[in-house]
Order: sequence, then C-alpha cells, then structure tokens
Amino acid sequence: MLKGKVAVITGGSRGIGAAIAEKFASLGADIAVIYSGSQEAADQVCTSCSEKYGVKAQSFCCNVADFDAAKKTIGEIKTQFGTVNILVNNAGITRDGLVPMMSEANFDQVIDTNLKGAFNMIRHCCSIFIRNKGGKIINISSVAGLMGNPGQANYSASKAGLIGLTKSVARELAGKNVNCNAIAPGFIRTDMTQDFNGEDPLVAGIPLGRMGSPEEVAELAAFLASGNSDYITGEVIRIDGGLAM
Ligand code: NDP
Repeated sequence: MLKGKVAVITGGSRGIGAAIAEKFASLGADIAVIYSGSQEAADQVCTSCSEKYGVKAQSFCCNVADFDAAKKTIGEIKTQFGTVNILVNNAGITRDGLVPMMSEANFDQVIDTNLKGAFNMIRHCCSIFIRNKGGKIINISSVAGLMGNPGQANYSASKAGLIGLTKSVARELAGKNVNCNAIAPGFIRTDMTQDFNGEDPLVAGIPLGRMGSPEEVAELAAFLASGNSDYITGEVIRIDGGLAM
C-alpha cells in the first residue's frame, strides 16, 4: 500500500512514532526516523524495519525545534532517499505544571518542539511535495488540544495550535494534491503516559474502558498516509476510546 513511498517520521525512536515507522515499513515504505537523543532506540527501529520488511530505513538526529537543523536534515534525507512523500510530525514533549507555577522555559520548550517543530518540518518538506505534485502530512495532535487539560496549558496550546496549522496547510496545499490531517490521540500506552494505570480516574473515565496502543494509532496514520484517504484533508481524527466525544 505504501510501496515506493518515502516517509519521514519525527520522534520515530519510541512510542507512537516507532509504531508508525514499523507499520509504514510493513506496508513497503522506506523510512527516515528522526530522533533527538535516543540514537540506540532509533537505530533499533531502523534495523527492525529493514530486516523484517526489506525496506530502506535510516535514523537522523535532529532537534525539530531548530529551523536550520530541520532544513539540513530534510536535505540529507532527500540526498539519501531521493525524495519525501509522507511526513509524520509526531515528535512531542510534555513539561506539565499549573499556570501559576509554569516557567517561561517550560512553556517555550513545549511550543517550540510540538508546534514550531511541525512547522519547521512542513516548511522544509513542502517544496518537495509541490514538485512531486503530491504528498501526505500527518500531524499528531492530542485530545488535550481539543478539550484542554489542567496542568498542561503549554501542551494543550501546542496541540490546539497544531490543529490550526493542519487546517491552514491543508487549505494552502490542497491545490497541489497535498493532504494534511491531524490525529488526536487520547491516552496511549507509551513512555509519556507511564504514570497512568487502570485505576487512574482519568483512564477509568474512558468510555471504552482502556488506554490505546501505539499500534492502534499507527493503523490510523497508515490510512491517512495511503491513497485510501485521498479525499480527506484538514481533518482531525480522534483516537481516544471515546474520551473527548
Ligand atoms: P514518547 O515520549 O514515547 O516519544 C517522544 C518521541 O519524540 C521520541 O521519539 C523523542 O525522541 C521525540 N522527540 C522529543 N523531542 C524531540 C525533538 N526536539 N526533536 C526530535 N524528536 C524529539 O511520546 P509518545 O510516543 O507518547 O507521543 C508521540 C506523540 O503523540 C507526541 O507528539 C505526543 O504529544 C502525542 N500524544 C501522545 C499521547 C499518549 O498518550 N502517549 C496522547 C496524545 C498525543 P528521543 O527518543 O530521541 O528523545
């Protein structure tokens, strides 16, 4: 389904991003995994993708929040892979705290990584998509961006911002055959949510009664990366067990 496509996945070293890399590779895509610190984990994802599925997979160290570093990395990926067809903006961090206690640095870091990071990658990939007369952009937002969440003003703002970015980019690039959509996950079992368990009242409040898995998010990302979703753009799809309905 993705054979011959080149996919860039930011934050592909762990959690949801690693599951997306594996899923795309299983569908035949070549994979560029961007990470910021976990080189070993990123290399492991790439080794697993190429050994299991015979695709090309390579890791790239890049802080997505850095405009120039993002430009350089996309340039390197283009040199190594020839092009980019799919961009998944998945890299994200949390720096939780109530507003009266939140430091400026913690606000800035989260916005810079989660929101500006996605802008940086889109900014440097879009000329490739325009030249290719097509492309797929998938931004990993969050239900926190739809509902807000106490203690996550920075994170919720970044994820709500991603939704605005998604819709504007979708409108700008629709005429160029580029789709841009967002996924809004609820509680997904990864390092980011390691403190949550079944007894947590937030988890108990999920209508489907459980947290989601990274693989379930990857299935949705694969649909949005494929030709099966060509008529969907500017959409935000929740995958949250009903949490934010
Ligand atoms: P993890 O903490 O498990 O993984 C985060 C990934 O982002 C890592 O690969 C990390 O790389 C990468 N990353 C962090 N900062 C940067 C940076 N500056 N530059 C490049 N890469 C970076 O997170 P999840 O898998 O849980 O989350 C993935 C996305 O999904 C995030 O955007 C998150 O906000 C969103 N999300 C997650 C939910 C959940 O319940 N887990 C719910 C809703 C949304 P490295 O390993 O090198 O540090």
